[in-house]
Parts: sequence; C-alpha cells; structure tokens
Amino acid sequence: MNKKIAILAGDGIGPEVMTQAIRVLDAIATKFGHKFEYTESLVGGAAYDKHQNHLPQETIDVCNNSDAVLFGSVGGPVDKQHEAKWANCEAKSILALRKAFNFNINLRKMALYTEIASLSPLKPELLSNGLDIVIFRELLGDVYFGEHTQTEKNGERYAFDSGSYTESQIKSIAEYAFKVAKTRSKRLISVDKANVMAMSKLWRQVVSEVAKDNSDIEYSDMLVDNCAMQIIKNPSQFDVILTSNLFGDILSDELSVLSGSVGMMPSASFSSSGLALYEPAGGSAPDIAGKNIANPIAQILSASLMLGYSFNMLDEAKIIDEAVKATIVAGYRTGDIYTKGANEKMVGTKEFTDQVIAFISK
Ligand code: NAD
Repeated sequence: MNKKIAILAGDGIGPEVMTQAIRVLDAIATKFGHKFEYTESLVGGAAYDKHQNHLPQETIDVCNNSDAVLFGSVGGPVDKQHEAKWANCEAKSILALRKAFNFNINLRKMALYTEIASLSPLKPELLSNGLDIVIFRELLGDVYFGEHTQTEKNGERYAFDSGSYTESQIKSIAEYAFKVAKTRSKRLISVDKANVMAMSKLWRQVVSEVAKDNSDIEYSDMLVDNCAMQIIKNPSQFDVILTSNLFGDILSDELSVLSGSVGMMPSASFSSSGLALYEPAGGSAPDIAGKNIANPIAQILSASLMLGYSFNMLDEAKIIDEAVKATIVAGYRTGDIYTKGANEKMVGTKEFTDQVIAFISK
C-alpha cells in the first residue's frame, strides 16, 4: 500500500521523537511491503522562524494533500512565552490546525504497562491487570464555542458562559466511538451531567439512540463526578469512554497521569472529511529537548494509531504496540520511566527505539 503522510514535527522534543517514529514506520514498511511517502512541513515556532507565521498556508496545503498528518508538538520554554515566536504558539498552530480541518473528534489512548505500574500514582493492587483505555472527547461544541462575558451586575462582579450541542454533533462522535468499541472489548461508558445540564440531557438521549443500533456493545451512562472518582477507585472497569468537550478535557488529563509519564499517551483527532491528525498528548518539553532523553513512546504509538485508524493496517498497528510493550518488558527505559535499583536499563530516545525496531523486524 502507498500512503502520503504529512510530517509536522514542530518544536522542542517534537523533531527528535518524530525521527524515531519515522524509523519505526520505515521498519513496518519494509516488513509489510508498504511505501510511506513523508512530506515534512513547518509548524509552531519552527514555522515562525521562517515565515513569521505559526501555521503557514503551505503547511495546510501539505496536510490537504496527504492521507494523514503526523504531528509532534509545538511551543517554547515557559519563561519565553512573551517572545513573538512563542506567544500563543499552541493556539496559533495546533488549535488553528484543528479549526482549519474541523476536527470534531479527539481520541486519547491510555495504556499502563504492569512493569512500570509503580510509577503510577495509584496503588499497585488497582493496576494488577494493567490498563488500556480509550477516551473520546467531542471538540467543536460545549462551552468552548459559546459566549463568555465578565461584567458587573447589581453592583457586583458577574460572569456568564454559554454552551451548546446539536443532535448531529453528538451523533457524529457517538457513532465513531461505538464503531471503535466493536474493535476492542465491546464496552462503552458515556459520561455526562444529565442530572443538571440540558446539553448533557440531549447527549444522553442521542447516545442511547446510537446505542440501540449497536446492541452488541455493553453500554452504560455515568455522571461526570462519579467518573472522576471511578477512574481513581476502579480504573480497569473502563474500556471506551465517550464524553463531551469540557468533561473530556478534564478526564483525559486525569487519565494521562495514571500511566506514569506524560510521554506515553498518543492521541488522534478526526474530522468528517476523513482526514485525521495524530500526536502525542504532551507538550514540546523544551527542558529536555535535544538531549536524546525524551520518551518516544507517545509519538511511536501515535504513528500506530495512524496506521490502524487512517490506513486500516490493523496488523501493522498491533505489531508496533506489541514491540513497545516487549521493549518495556525487556527492561529498557527512558529516564522519565526509569527506577533506580530495579532490573532496568536506562537508554536514550534513539536506543529505546532501536529495541522497538528490533522487535518489529524479528
Ligand atoms: P510538557 O508536556 O511539554 O512538559 C511537562 C513535563 O513533562 C516536563 O518536565 C517535560 O520534560 C516532561 N515531558 C513531556 N514529554 C515528555 C517526553 N516525551 N519524555 C519525557 N518527559 C517528557 O508541558 P509544559 O512544560 O507545560 O509545556 C511546554 C511547551 O509545550 C509549552 O510551550 C506549551 O505551550 C507546549 N504544549 C504543546 C502542546 C502541543 O503541541 N499539543 C501540548 C501541551 C503543551
């Protein structure tokens, strides 16, 4: 199979972890006889240096002409956010890209490997079976796109936010989430606040209608306050979580800390046009950039999601996931997931990937 991939490595650790993800994709191409054609394009601070624009039109054109987008991360050091190169860099590049392509569905995948369970803030007995959770977050509705005012009313400060959902916005993500649930353990929990909010009442109605067309999926609803507790008390009950924009923002960050490092969580954004963008859930980590110490797992697993979801290369995606797991089981660790004294080998970004590739190429 021939596929065109837009490569937007960005800033900080983006380029170095992207280099490793491409090496992994090349190993898959060799093993399975595929041809991946990469077009590298600038975004974020790197694009600003050349174009004085964080998301130049030529980068959008490259994405438009590709079968999928593999994104690294953007942004500069926290103490340099006042510089034009870094000011609102994330909003002007990745958020602008999401808007340009109308990405309405976000997926984050959280895997906890039992070998590094001691790094998780949860007690080991809660994690004995590992965790493998996918959370779907709607991206274009809710309070993020409503009215926000702060003013004075009756002699005191007053704030007002509004939010909305349409039936079709909810149906679109619900159908996608049920489709993915069929490829996993066939369990889906939809999270809302239907005891209070009108948006959530509609959310629950529409999701339950979609559920009727997917009766092979074990489906239930959960209130968001309970879900936030259950993720801590009994995380292994979750397989696919489906939720709205605001709740998804909060719950996906809660989930991301369970795996032990921010460098482990891949994500994907889908649009109804069919184009999808794949990226690590973390940021550009300027504090460790250029030192060959960043964890490449989130970027490598983002490439795996791309193969599975955009190219339907399910065996290829599975081999990448298994190779990452096998590398951890064999004791290889980047610094962020290394425990001194344990029977582990601390390795660099490239050397960790060498092991992943060795497992793939076996
Ligand atoms: P961050 O996620 O970049 O880093 C937080 C901490 O996690 C740092 O100590 C970092 O070293 C560590 N870390 C992150 N990824 C790692 C990896 N792969 N391996 C090992 N350690 C890793 O968050 P931050 O420091 O708050 O933000 C830094 C920059 O990233 C900011 O400019 C911010 O705007 C940007 N950012 C970009 C995105 C994106 O591109 N989608 C997302 C979040 C933050």
